[in-house]
Amino acid sequence: MKVLVVGCGVAGICLAHELLQADCEVQLIDKGQNVSSSVAAGIINPIVFRRMTLSWRVSEFIPFAYNRYRELEHKTGVSFFHPLVIRRLFASEQELEFWKKKQNLPEYSDYMETLTKEDLEFPLEQNTFGTARVKQASYIDAKGFIRANRDYFQSKNLLLEENFNHDELNPAEAVYKGTRYDFIVFAEGKDSTYNPLFGYLPLQQTKGEVLTIRSETMYSDESLNRKCFLLPLGNNEFKAGSTYVWNTDDTIPTEEGLQTITENLKSITSEPYEVLEHNAGVRPTVLDRRPLLGLHPEYPKIAIANGLGAKGYMLAPLLMNELVQHLFEGKEIPKDSHINRFAYSKHS
Ligand SMILES: Cc1cc2nc3c(=O)[nH]c(=O)nc-3n(C[C@H](O)[C@H](O)[C@H](O)COP(=O)(O)OP(=O)(O)OC[C@H]3O[C@@H](n4cnc5c(N)ncnc54)[C@H](O)[C@@H]3O)c2cc1C
Repeated sequence: MKVLVVGCGVAGICLAHELLQADCEVQLIDKGQNVSSSVAAGIINPIVFRRMTLSWRVSEFIPFAYNRYRELEHKTGVSFFHPLVIRRLFASEQELEFWKKKQNLPEYSDYMETLTKEDLEFPLEQNTFGTARVKQASYIDAKGFIRANRDYFQSKNLLLEENFNHDELNPAEAVYKGTRYDFIVFAEGKDSTYNPLFGYLPLQQTKGEVLTIRSETMYSDESLNRKCFLLPLGNNEFKAGSTYVWNTDDTIPTEEGLQTITENLKSITSEPYEVLEHNAGVRPTVLDRRPLLGLHPEYPKIAIANGLGAKGYMLAPLLMNELVQHLFEGKEIPKDSHINRFAYSKHS
């Protein structure tokens, strides 16, 4: 089998590895303008703090992702996967009560540490309602991950740095620039909006900004979370963020984004810091917060791997495995991830 993958973000990378594992011949094309996977904080957090619920399919995604990232570290010879403790500073009495209620339920206890006196009295000026620790969290050093995998594919001559040109595609035959493929899969992130074959899907572009900061005095044993995250990277450096601006395609860091993160940081730390970097990116999101996977309704050799939203690093490994099983073995893609939940219209 010969497969062309368009896009070398976390989706395209995980997909390409799945394909190689299935003994496919793989060609990747990327125009070298990554604005999501390389900007991300790369945090994998099983808990949705807003309502103290578990993230979608977390018991499937987390173990699969952890194994895959360990394997990819081994394959590329680069370390980018880091286990992490996330400490939530409760934002209200109600959050504390939710945690107390859920911490011992069987489905939650794998991800929530049982509250201790130390958690409740955690010595931080901003601790008003107590704190709690999340289990099985981690983060991927996103820049390191993208660089390591691109280097890996380049060393094997599998990655072309160029823009995919739709004028040179025959979608019915899956022939691109005269080469015939068994499948062509588009993993273009937010740029799928401009893809003439998949532009009908309701993909949204959600801008996010993130800071890299340095502080000699900030708490760095765990990642703190309330209103925003503070992720310790080592060497007194941290990532802090992020912001959400819907339907925005630009990747320009703004004064407003800086102000928002700076303001939100006050809810977890009063320590002084210096801003080292300020970056912005665009998440490929869908209103129902589910991915966009599947074969094109009209062209059965053309597929999409997109819609990873704010959780690409948790979702990509298993979703790309499911997509490959769909392509080669006809295994059904779960209904809530399949693009056929949206009506096809050719000219929208
Ligand atoms: C500020 C911020 C913080 C985030 N934090 C986290 C986090 O902590 N944890 C987490 O899991 N997720 C996080 N995310 C979300 C995460 O980044 C996304 O879910 C993920 O990166 C999407 O990956 P992707 O491969 O679909 O898209 P992308 O990373 O955008 O990759 C798409 C690739 O396709 C290429 N491409 C597009 N069109 C073409 C074309 N026509 N020809 C050739 N190449 C093309 C682009 O160059 C790009 O490299 C964050 C995002 C942002 C913006």
